[in-house]
Amino acid sequence: MNTTASLTLNNGVVMPALGFGVFQSSPDETAAAVETALQTGYRHIDTAAAYRNEREVGEGIRRSGLDRSEVFIETKVWVSDYGHDETLHAFDKAADKLGVEQIDLLILHQPAPSRFDLTTAAYRALEKLLADGKVRSIGVSNFTPQHLATLIEHTDVVPAVNQIELHPYFTQPEMQQTDRAYGILTQAWSPIGGITFYPGWGEHRTSTLSDPVLGRIADTHGKTPAQVMLRWHLQQGRSAIPKSTNPARIAENFDVFDFALSPEELAAVDALDTGVRSGPDPDVRDPYSLGIVIDEA
Ligand code: NDP
Repeated sequence: MNTTASLTLNNGVVMPALGFGVFQSSPDETAAAVETALQTGYRHIDTAAAYRNEREVGEGIRRSGLDRSEVFIETKVWVSDYGHDETLHAFDKAADKLGVEQIDLLILHQPAPSRFDLTTAAYRALEKLLADGKVRSIGVSNFTPQHLATLIEHTDVVPAVNQIELHPYFTQPEMQQTDRAYGILTQAWSPIGGITFYPGWGEHRTSTLSDPVLGRIADTHGKTPAQVMLRWHLQQGRSAIPKSTNPARIAENFDVFDFALSPEELAAVDALDTGVRSGPDPDVRDPYSLGIVIDEA
């Protein structure tokens, strides 16, 4: 069976392929969800300063009783903290809130197209944190091929990861190819298509969960559409970070290592791509317009 339980990043750091996301997990739900996920077997948590739940992620990890070295912690610097010294300070804030000395993977949450100079300065700070051993690996999120080319031209360390919107309805084949060409691991956000069905994000969305092709493949294997989507990511060599605060769904999303999709099934999932993103276009939305500012620890 082609089980990809862990992935080796371009600097040799090993990362569990299947992580646990906490976007939109309220602070009061987050510690319990993280603790449940770790009890279930996840060993990789993806959070962000902008999710305002780094403290509770740290609390969930401590409650699990696992040693710090057993859990891979990934978090993101928000654009309001971009700039060299600002991003060095963003590390201190995140590490303090998480209650850790070192972060396994620290990434830039978004490119800031209107201030790409600050984006580059922020990445330079990530390089310093890496050189100082404060983080084990660094990367980016929501970068397009053009953003990557500009960043790589002006910096020294190729990002280990690019975390992007990626689910069966938006598969970004060119972005994945660009990542591969640079040796960057593609990590899927909304890996089961959450952004196609988040409650309250607009009517008339087509949810990946009710897709008939995914439903048929799921029935063939006695699995659910969410499990089929996660298996598709893992077999294609991506990292995926599904989010849930529901213990049954947390367990369901981890129960993906006892079946395999055939090449035809993988191709059938690939063919669902619409080429249309559900989330914001990182070249169009100015992340500063959200007005998010990150608290001190
Ligand atoms: P997901 O694809 O993980 O879907 C999450 C949604 O699906 C939630 O509404 C959840 O609800 C529901 N759900 C979870 N499991 C199941 C299941 N088995 N069956 C049916 N419904 C299910 O979407 P996200 O957008 O949350 O993406 C995952 C993670 O990616 C985020 O948590 C975050 O860490 C990261 N992310 C990063 C972004 C970026 O800009 N870098 C943007 C967006 C996400 P419930 O909790 O009730 O189970």
